[in-house]
Amino acid sequence: MTPKIDRFLAERQPDTPCLVVDLDVISANFGALRSALPQAEIYYAVKANPASPVLQRLVELGSSFDAASLPEIERCLTAGADPSSIAFGNTAKKMGDIAGAHSRGVRLFAFDSEPELEKLAVAAPGSEVFCRMLVANRGAAWPLSGKFGCSAEMAVDLMIKARDMGLAARGISFHVGSQQTEPGAWQAAIGEVARIFTTLAEKGISLDLVNLGGGFPIRYRDDVPGLLAVSEAIRTAIARAFGNRPPGLMIEPGRILTANAGLIRAEVVLVSTKGYGEPVRWVYLDIGKFGGLAETMDEAIRYALRTEHPDAGTGPVVLAGPTCDGADILYEHAGYRLPMDLKAGDKIDILDAGAYTASYSSVGFNGFPPLREYYL
Ligand SMILES: *Cc1c(COP(=O)(O)O)cnc(C)c1O
Repeated sequence: MTPKIDRFLAERQPDTPCLVVDLDVISANFGALRSALPQAEIYYAVKANPASPVLQRLVELGSSFDAASLPEIERCLTAGADPSSIAFGNTAKKMGDIAGAHSRGVRLFAFDSEPELEKLAVAAPGSEVFCRMLVANRGAAWPLSGKFGCSAEMAVDLMIKARDMGLAARGISFHVGSQQTEPGAWQAAIGEVARIFTTLAEKGISLDLVNLGGGFPIRYRDDVPGLLAVSEAIRTAIARAFGNRPPGLMIEPGRILTANAGLIRAEVVLVSTKGYGEPVRWVYLDIGKFGGLAETMDEAIRYALRTEHPDAGTGPVVLAGPTCDGADILYEHAGYRLPMDLKAGDKIDILDAGAYTASYSSVGFNGFPPLREYYL
């Protein structure tokens, strides 16, 4: 990965498993995103990696934040974020948490239903709100559709209600699904948002914010469209849909800012077969689904792996975690191959693992501690 991470691993020989993140890569990613979409305000999706050093670095870079809970909001504030730079993006919030966010100065809230709007009107009166629209998540490795958002028809009605409740109806948000590899997904959604803007303008409500969400893909094992392909698709769609009156843009990147900034160093616990002469070896690692690799669920996110035997011949493997839970299998069908001379005690690196790992690790299932984290 980066020289900084390699030096740390060589000198410190940390206990495994552990996540090691190079914060300078996050800075570089932030810069690349800012130049690819200069019109958009960047709200980092805190859930991707809520570690304090990450949040502090992003505060220094001038990022805003998309938080999903009161504790995430507090982490941002502790890291030095201004409350005006935080959006409470969860569409299902407890009344008390809305009030807590409001009392700490947060003024921008998401919703996708009338009951949530009623809560916002009571607990965060006068706040700015955006409505999350349901969009298809085809092309996403980690879909977010179904659970979040409402139909365009309902969004129109809800924005009118928001205004009538004394809230500031700012705009529409969507999320095309995480690790979205079809730039056309953003284009279709932007077209739908523009139609909502037009309908509401006819009813006297002028919106000025399109929240394009996250979903920007990164290269794990397989190639994906680059950031420039996605940003170009977005720019084209905005120009086509809004002409010379472009709305304010907001993006909520998570994965693309932090994933390639870190790797997980793990250790091989056991290499075995289930019968004599079977070609497929089972490789048990000291990290699994409960230790931070939750995104291997359904083999959705397929990490690239690095071993100490790069030039050896390889053979097919099933990869599994260390716990006594039958569900703790990482990859069985994704066609992973590892060196034939791999053995217990060998180190193995899980690459591009800086997003959606450490904060997913359990507090101590089977006695295994949460994933260790180092930020360099
Ligand atoms: C998780 C999430 C994001 C971040 O998505 P990525 O695919 O990691 O960029 C952005 N917005 C919302 C509302 C989310 O829930």
